[in-house]
Amino acid sequence: NTHKVKHDYQSDVARLRKIVVNSLYSNRDVFLRELISNANDALEKLRLTALTEKGMWDGVSPLNLTIKAERNSDGEGGRIIITDTGIGMNAAELTTNLGTLAKSGTSDFLAGVDGDDSTATGNLIGAFGLGFYSSFLVADKVTVASLPPPSSKNPNPTQNVFSSSADEGSFEIYPDPRGNTLGHGTEITLYLKSDASHYLATSNLMQLVNQHSGFSTTFPIYIWYETEEEVPEVDEEAVSDEQEGKLTDADEDEAVVEEDAEKESASPKMKKVIVGHWEHLNSQPPLWMRDPKTVTDEEYELLYQGTFKDFQKPLAWHHFHGDSESGVSFRALIYIPSRLSEEFFNKPLDNSAKDVRLLVKHVFITSDLGEYGLPKWASWVKVIIDADDLPLNVSRETLQSSSFLKQIKQIILRRLIQLFSKIAEEDQEKYAEITKNYGQVLKLAASEDSKNRQKLAALVRFNTNQREVVSFDSYLENRKQGQKQIFYLADMGKSIEHLSQSVFVEKLHARGYEVLLLNEPLDEIMLQSIRNWKGVPFQDVAKAGLDFGDDTPEEKDTIAELTDKYAPLLEWLKIEAGDNVKNVIVSNRLVTSPCAIVADSMGFTANVQKLMSATSR
Ligand code: ADP
Ligand code: MG
Repeated sequence: NTHKVKHDYQSDVARLRKIVVNSLYSNRDVFLRELISNANDALEKLRLTALTEKGMWDGVSPLNLTIKAERNSDGEGGRIIITDTGIGMNAAELTTNLGTLAKSGTSDFLAGVDGDDSTATGNLIGAFGLGFYSSFLVADKVTVASLPPPSSKNPNPTQNVFSSSADEGSFEIYPDPRGNTLGHGTEITLYLKSDASHYLATSNLMQLVNQHSGFSTTFPIYIWYETEEEVPEVDEEAVSDEQEGKLTDADEDEAVVEEDAEKESASPKMKKVIVGHWEHLNSQPPLWMRDPKTVTDEEYELLYQGTFKDFQKPLAWHHFHGDSESGVSFRALIYIPSRLSEEFFNKPLDNSAKDVRLLVKHVFITSDLGEYGLPKWASWVKVIIDADDLPLNVSRETLQSSSFLKQIKQIILRRLIQLFSKIAEEDQEKYAEITKNYGQVLKLAASEDSKNRQKLAALVRFNTNQREVVSFDSYLENRKQGQKQIFYLADMGKSIEHLSQSVFVEKLHARGYEVLLLNEPLDEIMLQSIRNWKGVPFQDVAKAGLDFGDDTPEEKDTIAELTDKYAPLLEWLKIEAGDNVKNVIVSNRLVTSPCAIVADSMGFTANVQKLMSATSR
């Protein structure tokens, strides 16, 4: 005890702990999910670091996590012990990782939280994944013993303990008086609050694991499971208390107390004993390996929320099995989040997707595909992709040369587009929601992704002077006989109402033509990159070059006559307007307005000029 070092929590941590403890009462179950998620991260870290750090892990000693409930001897209350064989933490890491808030934005989060609003806090905690502190939801004291594996920096690590009580503003760090009891990894002991002792029931713990973590954790999770059984009385050494509770390689599903058949007499004396064994909880293959028909929506949603730390449910997903051109077979699960993050259009246009979780044979490899990552327009997609037969020991470096990696992007994009198309065909309501949340993204996609341009543009929807949610195909179907152009009017930022009342639209509207009304920044850029739809060119109704296709010869004669008749006026107007206009002509495009200023068919429209000056600033 002489070595104990006492630290005060940062004021933010103390506040955060209070909020977590006070306001998440109804949501206490989350502690287990959070601790398992940390253990899983620690195991992944060890596996990945060991690829380059020789001697850190022998490659065979088990990477797993165990959960054990221990009742106090008086039967009242007890402890839950969660142990992982992961990367562990040294004394300094225990201090910073568990005693300070490393995450940027957490303080902002705190500033916005009123400690009494438990739903809001619950949502935010979920979103921020403020994991470790959730321990204090159920425990009034927590100790964390941790031992990192040997490394070149520290070849002889020692095991340290972090200890803290719920209502204290401080924590202690000290060398573990028990010595190095862990091979490597972290052991978290939760001394349960008196009103949380129902978590000691193994069946409750098992249910929680299965609900929240079972299918998102790819390392084995074992739970210590005890039953009362009648066994024949035998010599006392058959019952080994020593071994109880320590997981060795061999004893999964193997009772610590064993019946000895040979010694069994005709009518043996029976006694009741507690028999325990490590039960493998997530022995089922991970969810994405299962037949999609056997997976429920709720399971898909929980996997998404747990894996990608999003409190919201996903909007849609697509689960499939495929073979890449390079012959690698794989399973994949693509999720569309409920909405786009607000930063999406404000962040620079880089390939910043970090949420393609690549696994090989269920083992996590990376979630950052670097130069092979998804393009900006799809950087928000959440993906789990599990390849069957890449070499198991792949590191990022060897992966770079894998042709499979190069194909992943196209595979994901193709399937994502398929998913959009399927919803567009089958579920109008959901597609309206997609259009609302991802309409701009699809326009960006159609502008940027020349390879998938046609399919992407087909997914885009517009308002028109006649209808809402109109696709290019639907526009063409609704075309008037003889119509040779797709009419549109673009004015960024104006309302649809405003656009539909424009002088440019009135004549076409009166004649029964449909006009796409474009008011979003990417609309016109997209039209310029796709140029035409199924061979029918786009025509800006605010530009010269309008061709109705149903102009009668008489109408053309009238225009010629009027042009002759008003030649002096046109000439005078042209001189008066000077350099401001290129030409003044008689036109049949207006109904009630006396005149309109239109852009030259070759020049930029006012809207694009607006856009260009906005982006070049
Ligand atoms: P997050 O997991 O989002 O980073 P947490 O509060 O859950 O936030 O955990 C804080 C940090 O503590 C982790 O980032 C990790 O560095 C460390 N940590 C927590 N649990 C473990 C563990 N079981 N093994 C190793 N490190 C851990
Ligand atoms: Mg965490």
